[in-house]
Amino acid sequence: MRKICPVCEKGHLVPTNDIVSEIEGYVFVERGERCSNCGEEFPYEEDSQRVIEAARKLGVWPEPLKLHRKLSKSGRGVILRVPADIEKQMSLKGKEEVAISKVGKKIIVEIL
Ligand SMILES: [Zn+2]
Repeated sequence: MRKICPVCEKGHLVPTNDIVSEIEGYVFVERGERCSNCGEEFPYEEDSQRVIEAARKLGVWPEPLKLHRKLSKSGRGVILRVPADIEKQMSLKGKEEVAISKVGKKIIVEIL
């Protein structure tokens, strides 16, 4: 059974072992799935946890949380997926209202 990408809803999720996250200059490699169409990466939960544990030991976690993600494109605009660990830590339900502001090259998303 092939999984359809929840981001672009066109591609299939293909297992991969080279999802790279960079945290404070440390590079972590995770296994997961990558969309064959838009390239969005979905690290396996256990691998995300492993990276978080490793990062904590290195003292580069939890603040600031910084993961590298690719933006993806949908019919109506550009999508940024919130990494699962941030979602969990902030108990996001996916229905929150947010304020988005631009500060130089940074985009700040503030949960209201
Ligand atoms: Zn996709």
